[in-house]
Amino acid sequence: MNPLLREAYSTDAFRKSAHRLIDQICDHLAASFAGEHQQALPWQAPENAQRFWRDLAQQSPTIEEVCQHILDRSVRISDPKYMGHQICVPAPTAILAGMVTEALNNGSGVFEMGMAGTAMESHVVQVVARRLGWDEAADGYLTSGGTLANLTALLAARACRRLHSDALDGPSHSTSASPTSDWEHGTRQRLAVMVSEQAHYCVDRAARVMGWGAAGIIRVPTNPAFQMDTEQLPRLYAQATEDGLTVVAIVGSACSTSTGAYDDLQAIADFAAEQRLWFHVDGAHGAAVAFSDRHRGMLAGIERADSVVIDFHKMLLTPVLCSALVFRCGADSYRTFATEAEYLFSQQEENESVAAAESFNLARRTFECTKTMMAAKIYSLLAVHGEQLLEASVDHLHALASQFAAVIESRREFELAVQPQSNIVCFRYHGRGETTDKSSRSVEAAVALSQRMTLVRQALTEQGKFYIVKTVLRGEVWLRCTIANPFTSADEFNALLDEVERLTETLRPSLTERV
Ligand SMILES: *Cc1c(COP(=O)(O)O)cnc(C)c1O
Repeated sequence: MNPLLREAYSTDAFRKSAHRLIDQICDHLAASFAGEHQQALPWQAPENAQRFWRDLAQQSPTIEEVCQHILDRSVRISDPKYMGHQICVPAPTAILAGMVTEALNNGSGVFEMGMAGTAMESHVVQVVARRLGWDEAADGYLTSGGTLANLTALLAARACRRLHSDALDGPSHSTSASPTSDWEHGTRQRLAVMVSEQAHYCVDRAARVMGWGAAGIIRVPTNPAFQMDTEQLPRLYAQATEDGLTVVAIVGSACSTSTGAYDDLQAIADFAAEQRLWFHVDGAHGAAVAFSDRHRGMLAGIERADSVVIDFHKMLLTPVLCSALVFRCGADSYRTFATEAEYLFSQQEENESVAAAESFNLARRTFECTKTMMAAKIYSLLAVHGEQLLEASVDHLHALASQFAAVIESRREFELAVQPQSNIVCFRYHGRGETTDKSSRSVEAAVALSQRMTLVRQALTEQGKFYIVKTVLRGEVWLRCTIANPFTSADEFNALLDEVERLTETLRPSLTERV
């Protein structure tokens, strides 16, 4: 063997490095959990970061050196000052399971290539299905992120649409068109999906990927709480039909990304049933509350969905990427990428024979061919700690978000966008002596306020102590926090607001000149 290969595969070297690396990771996490790092975001401009990593690659570093630099130069999600994007602090159990799956590198396209991974995955999917209120007919799989899961769900909706209408009409109304004719012949109709204007952008992207264009996304306005205004559904649907569109699906957000608002899933389910639409729930972020007795009520109606997406990497302690796409009627999951000939089976035959033969060959149903052994981390969390761990995470993060909202409301110059329904909190700072009363604010003042929030967020990022993001709501800029870290406390909430206040007041004189 080439000496380079022999060295690269040395288990002695691996053992020594691995022991040292575990200590490095543990030291990093312990300091992070305790909030000992100065910065949650050790900010570096892109060109500086690029130069650093290019130079390091020339210096033949050891793996310990490379890893230490990665630890030092990455966002510290495990630091309590991290309140940025929706991503969890991974639990050590899940990290350990991840190390094993990296070492094994089993795929899971076909069962024989991923026996453990595929079976663990099936268990995880069934746990989710029970939590959604579904029986053994439900089935699904894990896939690489909520974005891909939502696209796959809409592909399933497209494939199943006539089948669903036919089932409701009874066999006598059956059309001769195969449910998969889009897959075989390309889409001939102009198809569309209805979704809240507050939905994650990936739903819009999915519709465009499928060739439905901008007209294929019917954006439903939201009420003052940023939930889909379901009263407008009949009017928008009638308009779309009149315009020659065939609406295939309606997507409920549980919850939306910007503000964490939960759509009224019962009302959407009613409408979907009435119009025979595929009802998909984008629960990438918020379907996690299915694990919580206290918060499950937010999902009332989800049991009537045809498909649901849930991300384990948002609130559920699992490293990225780990998402489940679950179908109420598991047989639907086989239709997404099926060719026409496979529809020569009757539905019953298909349920029994195809599902039985193929349920463990996941690539038949997933977008991916090779897929990581994705289930191991969440499976390990469930097996070792139980579903109560997920419930504890959901409850704790929600309680922290409520606490943060209360802190914001207790400070006069701060304004809360909306009472949080999830662990997402949007707010802004008006400045000393400014009014928080919207009705008495001029358009110019609103623009200036948005500008200030943009600059404050930029200043916060470059300073790096806290990591938060921003969002645009009804045309105005708000600061946005996701309380993702269980170690975050009122200390960080107050310190963050102090910092926002200090930065705004420092920036304000120069800003006033500019406006
Ligand atoms: C995060 C999120 C997504 C995207 O999921 P990824 O796992 O990041 O691809 C989709 N929808 C909602 C509501 C989300 O919050």
